[in-house]
Order: sequence, then structure tokens, then C-alpha cells
Amino acid sequence: MNPYTIFSEIIAGQAPSSKVYEDEDVLAFMDIRPVTPGHVLVIPKAPARSLAELDPVMGGKLFQVGQRIAAGLRESEVGCDGVNFFLADGVTAGQEVFHVHLHVIPRTPGDGFGLRARPTTPPRADLDYLAGSIRGALSRIAER
Ligand code: 5GP
Repeated sequence: MNPYTIFSEIIAGQAPSSKVYEDEDVLAFMDIRPVTPGHVLVIPKAPARSLAELDPVMGGKLFQVGQRIAAGLRESEVGCDGVNFFLADGVTAGQEVFHVHLHVIPRTPGDGFGLRARPTTPPRADLDYLAGSIRGALSRIAER
């Protein structure tokens, strides 16, 4: 599959972006449709369409840069009280651009941003059952 997206163009400098941070591996720039003022995207320069394709070392670096951006947002004129990280992996999760990206979303009271969810209260046995299933999957993945 073609890994090319608009983010590849931004990395190559062939599409405009408002950069906030760049190093040899990572680029951070303003989201063109911010959900709150100061909304930043952090992306790996090496194309990876999904978490499954993302080098875990690079995943760590995305998070590190996200932490720095969060600190910068708090000190900048954005002047936020809090920060949310958000990453959509897959269409069902809301991913629209298939180049992994970490959203760094500054928060202020009453900014209107939120996740819609209906938390449930399953019995412990259900939690234990799924925990076991996930542990099994992790073991199989580790053996590959
Ligand atoms: P997703 O839904 O895939 O998690 O988020 C994609 C994000 O990329 C959206 O927040 C969208 O506004 C942003 N985006 C899409 N195209 C561009 C673009 O050309 N430039 C910038 N700066 N952001 C973009």
C-alpha cells in the first residue's frame, strides 16, 4: 500500500505547515483544524500507517516530544490548564490520515472538547477473563 499522505508532503516541505518542533526523527506542527486553540500534531518522519507499523522506539520518541510540547503549551500564550493526548489507530478509532500522529490538545475550562463514552461496571470476573485473553495475545506476539 502507498504510505503517501499529506503528512509526507508536509515532512518534505512540499505542503505548508506551522512547525513547532523538528528533529531528525520527529516533526510537530499545528493542526489545520484545531479542536482547541494550540492543537498540535506530532508525527514520525518515517511513514507508518498504524501503530502496528510504527517502530516502538519511535513511538517512545513521539510520546517524549508530546511531553515537551505539552510543557511548551502550558508556558506559551496558549495558556492552557491541562493537556490531552489522543491517537486514533484505525478507521473505527477515528483515524483519517494514515500516517501515525499524536494529537496534543491544550485544555481550558469550558473549551467544549471531550470524549463521548458510556463507561460500564462489569463484574471482576469479566475483567479477569479479558485480562487473561490479552495476556495470552501478548505472549503470542512476544514469541513471534
Ligand atoms: P485523525 O482523525 O487522523 O486522528 O486526525 C487527522 C488530523 O490531521 C485532523 O485533526 C486534521 O485536522 C489534521 N489535518 C488533516 N490534513 C491536514 C493538513 O494538511 N495540515 C495540517 N496541519 N493538519 C491536517
